[in-house]
Amino acid sequence: MAQFGTEFCQQIAIARFADGAWSAASIEPLKPLAMHPASHVFHYASSCFEGFKAYRWEDGKARIYRLHDHVARMQKSAASLRLPIPDADLLASMVVDLVAAQVDDIPSPPSSLYLRPTLIGTLENIGAAAAPSHEATLFVLASPVGDYFSGGSAALKLLVDDQRARSTEQLGSTKTGGNYAAALGPTLDAKQQYGVDQVLFCPNGDVQETGAANFLLISDNEIITKPLDSTFLHGMTRDSILKLAADLGYSINERNFNVDELLALVKTHEAALSGTAACLSPVGTLVYHGEEIKVRDGAEGPNTVRLRKALQDIQYGLAEDRYSWLSEVG
Ligand SMILES: *Cc1c(COP(=O)(O)O)cnc(C)c1O
Repeated sequence: MAQFGTEFCQQIAIARFADGAWSAASIEPLKPLAMHPASHVFHYASSCFEGFKAYRWEDGKARIYRLHDHVARMQKSAASLRLPIPDADLLASMVVDLVAAQVDDIPSPPSSLYLRPTLIGTLENIGAAAAPSHEATLFVLASPVGDYFSGGSAALKLLVDDQRARSTEQLGSTKTGGNYAAALGPTLDAKQQYGVDQVLFCPNGDVQETGAANFLLISDNEIITKPLDSTFLHGMTRDSILKLAADLGYSINERNFNVDELLALVKTHEAALSGTAACLSPVGTLVYHGEEIKVRDGAEGPNTVRLRKALQDIQYGLAEDRYSWLSEVG
């Protein structure tokens, strides 16, 4: 299958906001958007998005993972950017209608259909740096994606950066383009300098997250991860793993920890990144002040495998969906 994010379904769902109201949504052929060069998004980064997956089960129907939670997070992102907030029913039905139109083309698990709702400010005004965009376009793009781990789940190497922040206090938990722009330079520099895969941002020593994934420490009986606050993105994968782990008897310690504690904890705890694209990915090595520190023996640990499987079994229809995380389509 094509590289993640490069192949698209030939239809999108789209709706527009103008004069204080959302238009009805429609499913349209995928084609370039015509936009005025003065559009707010080009100049002032008024954009936010979501990312989640639909799976096609053996019964031929699709199941969308945590649709309503992702819609709610999109509303939160829109509010923080002062963009028109999509009605929950409007956005949810755009996703459902698009998935229904594509259901026969969704590859079977572990492949899936990745869904990317996106909201952009389209106000035509380059003098609106300090004004909200009260015109907007909302669209949902769909992309068939393969198994992230088709080449095996090689443990990742992270640079521990105890200085820089990935984002800002006001946008840390907003899924907005500017945050990825902020993380890009440091991440590319770290790749080149240290051969790492990602940067773990730990401003003033506070262990937060990487450019696009949450960070967890996992032992045979506990999970340690940062408690929800405004500095990082509140991942649905993180939330799902914590709930499933609690059911399996792990104690869940949502607490702040610093780099010194992190370096001590990886002697005994597995480390993992969580996010929709890769579910739960093992971290095998940390690089800190030029020194390489192994996470346990440097290989993927059994608890990471166990928890990833617990979540994927629900997504693939192999285990009961006890939290009603899946929405059936088709
Ligand atoms: C999207 C994202 C995550 C993961 O969120 P999920 O809901 O688990 O996919 C984590 N961190 C950042 C910065 C993100 O953009």
